[in-house]
Amino acid sequence: MDFKLGIIALPGAAVSNKTGSFANEVPVYKNKKCTGCDLCIYFCPEGVVYGSKKEKKYGYDPDYCKGCGICAQECPVDDIEMILVEK
Ligand code: SF4
Ligand code: SF4
Repeated sequence: MDFKLGIIALPGAAVSNKTGSFANEVPVYKNKKCTGCDLCIYFCPEGVVYGSKKEKKYGYDPDYCKGCGICAQECPVDDIEMILVEK
């Protein structure tokens, strides 16, 4: 049996196409309970999360974040909150 994947964009596509202006929600990295697990970096489909495992401080590049919320969904300690963007 064939197994087919439905793909609408290559991973990291936003790096060559700024997406920050169309995001309806953006993440807030609270950096309070962070354990430095790096899951937010691994799961971000656009590769725009950065941070320091040692300092347990993380953030993202708002110019290229598409507001998908995957980082917040995957954070095991709920240290990332999605908030609505006022337009
Ligand atoms: S919401 Fe999180 S996972 Fe989605 S693009 Fe932005 S930083 Fe990456
Ligand atoms: S997923 Fe959450 S706990 Fe893990 S590094 Fe990112 S912010 Fe920290």
